[in-house]
Amino acid sequence: MAICVLCRQRKGKRFCPAVYNMICSTCCGTHRLKKLNCPSSCPYLRQAKAFEMAQKEAEWAQRGAQRAEIEQRLTAFALEEAISTFANENPDLTDDEVIAALKAVQDAVEREVMSGMVHEPKADGRTKDLALRILKNAQRMKQRIGIPHNVLLARVARLLTQKAMLLSQRTYDGKGYLKALLIDIKPNSLEELFERLTASQTRG
Ligand SMILES: [Zn+2]
Repeated sequence: MAICVLCRQRKGKRFCPAVYNMICSTCCGTHRLKKLNCPSSCPYLRQAKAFEMAQKEAEWAQRGAQRAEIEQRLTAFALEEAISTFANENPDLTDDEVIAALKAVQDAVEREVMSGMVHEPKADGRTKDLALRILKNAQRMKQRIGIPHNVLLARVARLLTQKAMLLSQRTYDGKGYLKALLIDIKPNSLEELFERLTASQTRG
């Protein structure tokens, strides 16, 4: 068995096309593309490359999922801040009105995605006012931090509708969602969030 020509310690089991001699797997891994001018045809390089790229892609996909989750949370905050602020101004607002407004928002945004044209939320009176307020908050967030795009907005409106329906069922007064919301999200706090986000960005 040949001795590795690089370290002269371990067994040289790999033919290295860069040094045109036998080297060990440790030296191959350590010096690959660094000390060694590896040709693309080397099977050891190709194998290592395939493995590392697969790993990097997995990491990237994971970062993508994390990012998507953050974007979803921020969008939910924008929508719920609009509801919280509106509920603060209209103390007799009910969960049913909120659910109707969220459904109208989802519907309008989905129409826009499909047609490429802006659609008014299909609702009346106070429900429409709330739907417009929710859309306005989404717009404000988009201007400040570039999200949400419409697909995300429609998704979050749908998820919040489900959340509101679930929480509403837990109480008999039809305000289970709104009560929980007003504890979680302070009215008129969207600007505060933007300022926090910008501050953390400049701090790095
Ligand atoms: Zn070696």
